[in-house]
Amino acid sequence: MLHLLDLSPEQLQAWFADRDVPGYRAAQARRWLFEKRAAAFEDMTDLAQDLRGQLTETFVIWTARVAAHQKADDGTEKLLLELADGERVECVLLRDDKHRRTICISTQVGCAMGCVFCASGLDGVVRNLTTGEIVEQMLHLQRLLDPDERLSHIVVMGIGEPLGNLDRLLPALAVATRRDGLGISARRITISTVGMPEGIRRLARQDSPYHLAVSLHAPDDALRNELVPYNRKVGIGSILAAADEYFEATGRRVTFEYVLLGGVNDQAEHSRRLAAIVRGRPALVNLIPLNPVRGLPFHAPAAEAVVRFAEILQHAGLAVKVRYRKGERIDAACGQLRRRGSEPRIDAEKGGQAPSR
Ligand code: SF4
Repeated sequence: MLHLLDLSPEQLQAWFADRDVPGYRAAQARRWLFEKRAAAFEDMTDLAQDLRGQLTETFVIWTARVAAHQKADDGTEKLLLELADGERVECVLLRDDKHRRTICISTQVGCAMGCVFCASGLDGVVRNLTTGEIVEQMLHLQRLLDPDERLSHIVVMGIGEPLGNLDRLLPALAVATRRDGLGISARRITISTVGMPEGIRRLARQDSPYHLAVSLHAPDDALRNELVPYNRKVGIGSILAAADEYFEATGRRVTFEYVLLGGVNDQAEHSRRLAAIVRGRPALVNLIPLNPVRGLPFHAPAAEAVVRFAEILQHAGLAVKVRYRKGERIDAACGQLRRRGSEPRIDAEKGGQAPSR
């Protein structure tokens, strides 16, 4: 059986053409899938019964099962998906205001970057997700919406390093942006990386329509080498140079993400040094107070430290946002739910939290 979501629109069209079925039937099937949120081929009632039978014999729509589903009072919902091979990934739906519906998706099982404050990096990377598995996360999350809600934004900020799996991610995002896909504007899609210069340059060369977020987490290589071990291979200088190329090629302002770890990288001196390396760039700095991960020796920064850190950056002329996480009590920090190995259940705990990188 083939995963239908692994096929490009053109490949699906070709499959229909091989069976002498007019092309518009393929478009109808896609509309059922992405617009009408069909769960099965049998639901596609304007396709002939015989055609639905052939589709059912050839393709599966869903390869992952929902192993856990957590809900927070603020509307945040998180899914733990068990893939066909038993591996697990997480994805999150965030409801921000009346209309903004952001999903955060994963690109790999585990992560090779090894950020010391992140549950996803603790066991390394297992494998890349397929294009179909990435699209399937979008559809699982879309099915959580009420009929009058629509997905509006995507952040590729879940488990894994997106630039480590660009070959599969880019076709998935193409499905997300197509009018006969999910119809999400490319400007509302953010790819978040810890900084793989080659991947950033590849996006720049392609005149990527997506927003780029680079997670720094430290203002110098000595500290960053400790917090993001992958940095030893690249260094902040080459990441910033690649980010500059991205801006020059695309005209899109880069966001620099900085997770604040209490007592580790949240001091005034760190903020001053961060300002010094980012200053002069048309950039936004997102400060993200840590959500502590069970079993890891880091804690959230003091509220005063967050304010002081932001003020120093602002006084240096930088655009700054502090991104407080939504909710507190579901295991929504990147990888926590997956590591806990949850059994199938529905939670309705208070709180919830934005995904992290
Ligand atoms: S924060 Fe992101 S890049 Fe770092 S280990 Fe976790 S998933 Fe990987």
